[in-house]
Amino acid sequence: MTAEADRLAAEYFQTGTLSGLPRDHFIDGRWSPPQYGRMMETFDPGLGRAYHAFSAGDADDVATAVEAAVRAGPDWARSRPAARGAVLARTAALLREEAPRLAVIESLDSGKPLQEAEGDVAGAARTFEYYAAAANTLQGDSFPIGHEYLGYSIIEPAGLTAHIIPWNYPLSTAARGIAPALAAGCTVIAKPAEQTPMTALLLAEILHRAGLPAGVCNVVTGTGQDAGAPLVRHPAVRHVSFTGSVQTGVNVMREAAPNVTRVLLELGGKSPVVVLADADLDAAVEGILGAIFENAGQICSAGSRLVVDRGIHGELLDRLVKRAEALQIGHGLKRSQFGPLNSAEHLSRVTAHVESARKRGLSIITGGNAIADPATGQGWFFEPTIIDTAPANDPAVQQEIFGPVLVVQPFDEEEEALMLANGTDYALVAGIYTRDFSAAHRLARDIDAGQVFINEYFAGGIEVPFGGNRMSGFGREKGLAALEAYSRVKSVAARIGK
Ligand code: ADP
Repeated sequence: MTAEADRLAAEYFQTGTLSGLPRDHFIDGRWSPPQYGRMMETFDPGLGRAYHAFSAGDADDVATAVEAAVRAGPDWARSRPAARGAVLARTAALLREEAPRLAVIESLDSGKPLQEAEGDVAGAARTFEYYAAAANTLQGDSFPIGHEYLGYSIIEPAGLTAHIIPWNYPLSTAARGIAPALAAGCTVIAKPAEQTPMTALLLAEILHRAGLPAGVCNVVTGTGQDAGAPLVRHPAVRHVSFTGSVQTGVNVMREAAPNVTRVLLELGGKSPVVVLADADLDAAVEGILGAIFENAGQICSAGSRLVVDRGIHGELLDRLVKRAEALQIGHGLKRSQFGPLNSAEHLSRVTAHVESARKRGLSIITGGNAIADPATGQGWFFEPTIIDTAPANDPAVQQEIFGPVLVVQPFDEEEEALMLANGTDYALVAGIYTRDFSAAHRLARDIDAGQVFINEYFAGGIEVPFGGNRMSGFGREKGLAALEAYSRVKSVAARIGK
């Protein structure tokens, strides 16, 4: 796997692109050019240059995809869950077979280090495998409403589902929504982010080769305004899964409202990592580094606030700074430890956050600057950054930066740690490091979050439900909860007599 991926990466550095990349939408089981022929470019963030053109879709392309999905819907909804599961299992196998190429394309499109992209592809395969099996668990209930009655429920698919995908985990997020939707018997139209359209298109084509009937899963590319909004607004769409920023999530909810289309929103976070004085510091250091510097911090569930006992604050920070400064920065396809941000626009957003923190007089103990790849002088990089001690109401504590910026909040008592942990409008995930079993579970109980990790940040997998509270959104993805998200319950109550 590694050799093949590295060979493809070398091909990219020689030719400036990769052969066989998709240019068209994937609609009704085939590549489908945009109706008005408009194209746009996708960029390599590591070199800050365009490397490929793809379709700039609009409302007409969305309408074509909707027609295909509506035609395919009834047969797919009536198929046996086990048959749907078989298609998903074949998809998992194909994802594994084609993993090296998918990982290289994901790394190139998003900027993330190749080994992280390889992890994402393996995770996507695992997601399809999980929902292949989970399809067999779909079943209703019977209700005891009296001897003369029969009460039972039928689990139905939600119908046509739209998936609006972000640029930070393009393939993982697509898989996380599409696999349970298909398992539940729904049809799908996905709209990947305009910065990272490649792997969702390739996934749709792989699903087709795995035996998914034409029209059941379609991908339309283009901007949020031109392709995303018409999809979300379309009256045939009965469910929207959105992952992205709070403001766009609010817009999506508004666009879906007139048709009373249900929405699942996975929005931002400002998640705390709480480290108590008795914690295993080796584990905490590893966890915190991954929590904020993996994917250059462009993770909804990043651990972007370090809530640390004042007694170990100095030692922990010394160790974190040393490790942050040792991270090897470079192009994702060179298997660097730390890659670029996804776009020039996003780099300027992160830079502005840190600049204003500096102007407010906050102490930036490491990093803090936009930089280029030391090897090439190119690319959209931002240094691994730690801001030591910001007041609880400071924007650096309150706002999601979505970059490699950790802000530190020391505490004296567990009660204060809890208050700080819960002290933002977000409530997505939280990490806790301690050897005290009761303290860990007290905090897990009392921290407002959709998911809590104890002694290993990002512990868990596709089996564990994931989603936010408050400004982090609502609804749960992953686990069996996602099957429910893409299903609806019909209750039947019949009088059958004595
Ligand atoms: P960012 O601001 O970092 O680019 P967004 O949250 O705006 O992230 O984008 C996430 C996804 O939402 C992308 O696929 C984008 O194209 C899409 N999107 C943006 N605006 C809309 C909209 N009004 N309706 C539907 N999708 C949208």
